[in-house]
Amino acid sequence: MQPSPPTLSIVIPVYNEAPNLEPLHAELTAALKALGQPYEILFVDDGSGDSSFEVLKRLSAADAHVRVIRFRRNFGQTAAFAAGFDYAQGEIIITMDADGQNDPADIPALLHKMRAGEYDVVTGWRVERKENFARRFLSKTANRLISNSTQITVHDRGCSLKAFRSEVAKQMRLYGQLHRFLPELAAIVGARVAEVPVNDRARRAGKSKYGAISRTPRVFLDLMTVFFMLTFFTSPMRLFGGAGLISTGLGLLTGGYLALAKIYHGLTGGWAGFQAYQIGNRPMLLLAVLLVIVGIQFLMMGLIGEMLVRVYYESQHKPIYTVREVLGPGG
Ligand code: UDP
Ligand code: MG
Repeated sequence: MQPSPPTLSIVIPVYNEAPNLEPLHAELTAALKALGQPYEILFVDDGSGDSSFEVLKRLSAADAHVRVIRFRRNFGQTAAFAAGFDYAQGEIIITMDADGQNDPADIPALLHKMRAGEYDVVTGWRVERKENFARRFLSKTANRLISNSTQITVHDRGCSLKAFRSEVAKQMRLYGQLHRFLPELAAIVGARVAEVPVNDRARRAGKSKYGAISRTPRVFLDLMTVFFMLTFFTSPMRLFGGAGLISTGLGLLTGGYLALAKIYHGLTGGWAGFQAYQIGNRPMLLLAVLLVIVGIQFLMMGLIGEMLVRVYYESQHKPIYTVREVLGPGG
């Protein structure tokens, strides 16, 4: 008998997690069997150097629900999610950590929330974190900052346990280390995002792949990227052109003031007064020149940005919109 195609796909990035995989598979299988809908478990082996792949091979040989995608080298967690989204067959995709931090028992709550509110993305919110104070503090601050700047209020972006409608997951474009911004990337394609409280547990074995301090500046830079994509991606001239106009305008005002002052001294003091009034050595002149040059740079950047946006969308016939549904004939 042909097994029915999965409606639920679990995507799990794996980087050197050998001791965690079998317990996770067992726990996950118990939770998914209880749900009673066809599922698949996609392990993405992100270039592990330990025996993770051998363990995954054994798991997939023993369990037809398990599929393994093995990268040629370590591409990072974001790439692993992207591969999982590409290969997933289910209508709903659930992501989680391989280290046992996420509790498979929370999956029904995610699905329930998604169905109840017609949400496209439901993220887990670890209300009680099991990590040390520094990581919790940094994470909380970062989440608050990101929520404030992107207007997408999610308490916890670091929790890997998330559920996505597959068409939304497949539309999102993942680059760099942007997996921390999945709610934002989903919002860019117009998804409705919600969150549910989930259980947080300690990592079963091995160490975290990220340091608390080293990730802070990177997350900040990523935030700038995401903020730009959310607000000005299709109209970079609005951002850079605005800055350019302000800077050029201030520069012209400053320079104009100096020129007028010199002319005024010429009118009141004659040629001698005009010559005596020096503006060539004044810091203000430097400022004026700087503002005008920077302003013109900004304007040019805006123009180049506009050209790049056109290249981006037109070269691949990407629409600048996303459709939730179409009714009537042809829908
Ligand atoms: N991971 C990955 N590639 C990497 C780093 C991490 O696939 O380059 C996986 C890792 O195996 C784990 C998940 O991403 O399943 C989250 O990593 P980790 O648990 O170390 O992060 P933390 O939970 O401490 O934020
Ligand atoms: Mg983890």
